[in-house]
Amino acid sequence: MASLDSAALVEKRKDLLIKGKYNGMKSEAFRKEIINYIIKNKIGKFKKNYRIRDWNISRQRYWGTPIPIIHCNNCGVVPEKEKNLPVKLPKKVNYSTPTKSPLDTNSNFVNTKCPKCKSKAKRETDTMTTFVDSSWYFLRYTDPKNNKKIFDNSKINYWMPVDQYIGGIEHAVGHLLYSRFITKFLKKEGYINFDEPFMNLLNQGMVLKDGSKMSKSKGNVVDPLEMIEKYGSDTLRTYLLFIASPESPFEWSDKDIQGVYKFLLKVHDLASIGNNNVMKKFMEAITIKKIEEITKYYDNKEFNKVIISLMDFFSYIEKYPNKFSIIAFLKMLYPVAPHLSEEIYKKMGNKKILAKTEWPEVKIKFNKKEYEKGIQIEKLVSDIMNIKKLVNKKISNVYLYVIPPEYKLYSSILKVLESRLKLKINLQISSSKDLYDPENKSKRAKFGKPAIYVE
Ligand SMILES: [Zn+2]
Repeated sequence: MASLDSAALVEKRKDLLIKGKYNGMKSEAFRKEIINYIIKNKIGKFKKNYRIRDWNISRQRYWGTPIPIIHCNNCGVVPEKEKNLPVKLPKKVNYSTPTKSPLDTNSNFVNTKCPKCKSKAKRETDTMTTFVDSSWYFLRYTDPKNNKKIFDNSKINYWMPVDQYIGGIEHAVGHLLYSRFITKFLKKEGYINFDEPFMNLLNQGMVLKDGSKMSKSKGNVVDPLEMIEKYGSDTLRTYLLFIASPESPFEWSDKDIQGVYKFLLKVHDLASIGNNNVMKKFMEAITIKKIEEITKYYDNKEFNKVIISLMDFFSYIEKYPNKFSIIAFLKMLYPVAPHLSEEIYKKMGNKKILAKTEWPEVKIKFNKKEYEKGIQIEKLVSDIMNIKKLVNKKISNVYLYVIPPEYKLYSSILKVLESRLKLKINLQISSSKDLYDPENKSKRAKFGKPAIYVE
C-alpha cells in the first residue's frame, strides 16, 4: 500500500504529498479511492463518526430546571418518583450565598424522604444548564398544552423538523450539537419519526464596532434601545438587514443608520404622495420587475439586496406615484419595516391590516416596450441634469436631436420629460435641414441615444 505523509493527512487543502501510485491525486479524490481500496481488500469499512464532548449539565444557580434526584444515605442516588414530577423551584430562597446554590437555603425544599426506603434524604440543589431546555423546547411548541405527555406523536411529526434555523455561530455550535443529540435520542426511543431537528442553517454575522466584537469591557457597545429611542425600531431593523448579507460580520456605522433613517422618512410621506398615473404602463412594468426581483431576494435570504431594490423601486414611485406600485412596495417593505408600512397602509384608507394581506402577485403581463421607454426617459433626465451641472449656468432651452425612427417615441414622452426637468424641450429630427444647431451636436444622435444641446 502507498505510504502517506502524516502531515499531509492533516492538511485539508487540495494537493496532498502522496507517494507511490496515488502520487499527484487531489485530496478529495484520494479519500474516495483509499476508502474503496480498504473496503475491497476487507481491511475495514466506511463509517461516519460523531463526537459530543463531555457535557456538564449542572450549575449552582437558582434559575434552571431542578434535577429530580434525591440523595439517600442508605440507597445512594435515587430518582424522584415520576408522579412527583416536575419538581418545582421553591420561591423562598436566599440568593446571597456565594459558596452554595441558593436552593440549599430552603430547608423545606432540601429535606425530603427517600422514594425507595422512606428514610430522611436530601434533594439535589444544583439545577440544569439552560442548554438542556433549549435542546428540546422547540419540540414542545407543537403541542404546548398537553398535560398527559411530552407531545402528541401526530402533532410533532406533522410540524417538525424545523424548516429554517437562524443562530449566531457561537451559540449555534453548542446548541445544534445538543439538540441534535436529544433529537436522535428521542427518535431511538420512538417518540418522533425524524432524525434531524433542523433542515436549514443560517449563521448570522456579528455586528462589530471599531473593528472588534461589541463587549461591555471594551466599552464599544451600541445599545439597541438607545437606537430605537432615537430612530425607531423599523430603522434599526432596516439598517441591520441593509448593511450586510446576513452571514457576514459588519462594522456598525452611525452614518449609515442615518442614511436608512432618511430613506424611511421619505417613505413615510407615501400616504400623502397621491396617485398621478403618469407613466402608468411603465410603472406597471417596473412593479412587475420589482415584485419578481424582491421575492427572489427574500427567498434567497439576501435581505440587503431586498432593501437596495426597494430603495430603487421607491425612487420610481416618488417620480410617478400610483396606487398599484405603492401597495406592492408596502407589502414588500413590511417584513423589514412593519410598523411604518402598516401605518402608511392604514393612512391610505385601507380597512384590513397589511399583515393579513397576500404577498403582491403579478396579474398582468410584463410590457417590455413600455419598460424600455421609461428607462430611456430616466437615462435622458439624468444626462440632461449632468449637462446642467457641467455648464453651471441657468438653462432656458434644451434641444434634443433624435434619429428619424425614434421621433415618435420621444414625442410621446416629451411632456413627462419637460415636467421632470422643469425645462422647455425642443425636439428635432437630427437629419432635418432647417435645424437650429449652433454647435453641430445633431450629428451625434444615435439609436437610443439622442444628442443634447442646452442654452
Ligand atoms: Zn433510601
